[in-house]
Amino acid sequence: MDDQYRTWIRDIPDFPKQGILFRDITPLLGNGSVYREAIRTLADKVEEWKPELVVGPEARGYVVGAPLAVTLGLGFVPVRKPGKLPYKTVSVEYALEYGTDRLEIHEDAVRPGQRVVLADDLLATGGTMRATMDLVEKLGGVVVGAAFLIELKQLGGRDRLGDIPVYTLVQFD
Ligand code: IMP
Repeated sequence: MDDQYRTWIRDIPDFPKQGILFRDITPLLGNGSVYREAIRTLADKVEEWKPELVVGPEARGYVVGAPLAVTLGLGFVPVRKPGKLPYKTVSVEYALEYGTDRLEIHEDAVRPGQRVVLADDLLATGGTMRATMDLVEKLGGVVVGAAFLIELKQLGGRDRLGDIPVYTLVQFD
């Protein structure tokens, strides 16, 4: 079943730097029926976790999280790089391969106890989603699961997210 989606993901060797094999989802996004089916498949799974809100990190988290939220009739909350959100924020710092980065969320974006599902295009080391999860938990939200189009299994991102359920449409070894 996931082979149907795999053919719509393009491999770009040595992007953004030498030795990295980038999984490019723009062919999938560019085909209306494949994109819609991918979001519907994620939505069917995510619905089982009874979420009340979808949270996704910029930028490709929006092209998965926002349509997922609309499909489920839920709100969508953007997580952004520093200085981009207009209202008061809380932030977390997280480690990159070299150095650190920060992500921010509006301080009133999640209610304490609210059931939140996380969404992004791709799970690699899990650093981005772990930071997103930490932001939601700082606001008192309850992360009930995470959904991705793609999982790069070798990088072990799933383990960074603790014991929440993680659903991915396509896995690469
Ligand atoms: P992680 O934080 O290492 O799990 O990396 C995941 C983040 O980096 C996601 O927000 C992705 O959009 C981005 N990313 C990393 N590798 C790729 C790739 O091969 N294709 C598309 N996005 C990627």
